[in-house]
Amino acid sequence: MAKHTVVLGAGMVGVCAAWHLLRRGHRVTLVDRNAPGRETSFGNAGIIQREAVRPYRFPRDLATLTRVLPNRAVDIRYQPSGMARAALPLFQYWRNSAPERYARIVPEYAALITRARDAHAEMIDAAGAGDLIRQDGYLEVFRTAAAFDAECRQARQDADEYDVTHRVLDHAALAEEEPDLASGLAGALHWTQPWTATDPGALVAAYAEDFQQRGGRFIQAPLETLSRDGSGWQVMAGGETIRAQQVVLALGPWSAQWLDQQGLHVPLFVKRGYHMHYGAHDNARLRHWLMDSETGYLLAPMRAGIRLTTGAELARHDASPRYQQLAAAEAVARTLFPLGERLDPQPWMGARPCTPDMKPVIGPAPGLPGLWLAFGHGHQGFTMGPITGKLLGQMMDGEPAEVDMAPYRADRF
Ligand SMILES: Cc1cc2nc3c(=O)[nH]c(=O)nc-3n(C[C@H](O)[C@H](O)[C@H](O)COP(=O)(O)OP(=O)(O)OC[C@H]3O[C@@H](n4cnc5c(N)ncnc54)[C@H](O)[C@@H]3O)c2cc1C
Repeated sequence: MAKHTVVLGAGMVGVCAAWHLLRRGHRVTLVDRNAPGRETSFGNAGIIQREAVRPYRFPRDLATLTRVLPNRAVDIRYQPSGMARAALPLFQYWRNSAPERYARIVPEYAALITRARDAHAEMIDAAGAGDLIRQDGYLEVFRTAAAFDAECRQARQDADEYDVTHRVLDHAALAEEEPDLASGLAGALHWTQPWTATDPGALVAAYAEDFQQRGGRFIQAPLETLSRDGSGWQVMAGGETIRAQQVVLALGPWSAQWLDQQGLHVPLFVKRGYHMHYGAHDNARLRHWLMDSETGYLLAPMRAGIRLTTGAELARHDASPRYQQLAAAEAVARTLFPLGERLDPQPWMGARPCTPDMKPVIGPAPGLPGLWLAFGHGHQGFTMGPITGKLLGQMMDGEPAEVDMAPYRADRF
């Protein structure tokens, strides 16, 4: 009889794990309190980031730290209570961002990123979700020649080391690609490999729909308890008791609290982010996803309007939203592109699930046989969901994974 596996969490990561396990012949039950893809995987910028071989590191240079410290920067904000709560993981994050340690982390991160787009392609095909995807990359625009030059140098290195492709657009070429942008920009890098989703939540929902059509079961109910049951596990959700040989915990930013209950502590912290949709004035049109790199926000021409997503807010996951960072990004964005009215009644807020070494946790839960972990994908979980599901499936079925999985094990902390 097929192994029964329960997957907890139907964000991008959990849905992809469930999808792959089903394809491998497991009987799979997917559990989430919401419909699939309604939390972090809903509100992101929707970029399948083939270029993101270098994870976001903690700023260590004095200029950035001095700029961020007054807490008025657009790209990074913090709440002191959140910094205090996550002091240890943040300190470890800072240490892991030092050049030597970071240089060891990059290839481990890149091993997932470089495989991520193909893993999406397989699922997009299977789910018939091609109409949600654009394949024309995105633009990273620069205001100063110094920053533009530095990023061009890094891009050439990433091209050599990781086959990341790009085009360099000078001021005139950028104006041709995006005629409605303000003038005065130094130029842009056009990352040509990334794909973009015009509705990120709908892509997760399409994958989940495909999972259900192929015989997977989805239960929409809050998780109540997770406990051991002989050699297997027992999950209670929405009053139903579900027994399974194996459980995959893919609860995104909520993962650590459920693991704590099992006596396993993983140093997860969050970087919150916000979004809002806008119209455009004067029939202006934004043709590409566009990152205002030196300021630190992104504009994405999505189905629901032009989505502005913010950078990172270091705050407690459960602290009340603070909309000043979004307002600051909006003010700058309006000088770059003629954004129209706000289209949503209130801003969306989500939380990137982050680890101190910037890598996700993928693999067995130490000391808890039958429990598997898939969370902590930080800034790129929308990108890495499908490759995570694929590799996890290989590990769970005792096959050699196509990537060395040691760097992602939970016992590294
Ligand atoms: C502003 C912003 C922009 C981003 N842009 C990008 C981008 O362009 N590209 C990219 O690759 N990544 C991006 N990210 C990161 C990406 O969104 C996340 O890494 C990813 O969505 C995490 O997916 P997940 O499945 O781990 O978590 P989630 O999507 O949060 O899924 C976790 C699920 O667990 C469920 N859950 C939690 N508790 C319970 C419970 N008690 N009972 C039942 N269910 C429960 C939740 O309902 C949720 O559905 C961005 C993030 C933000 C915030």
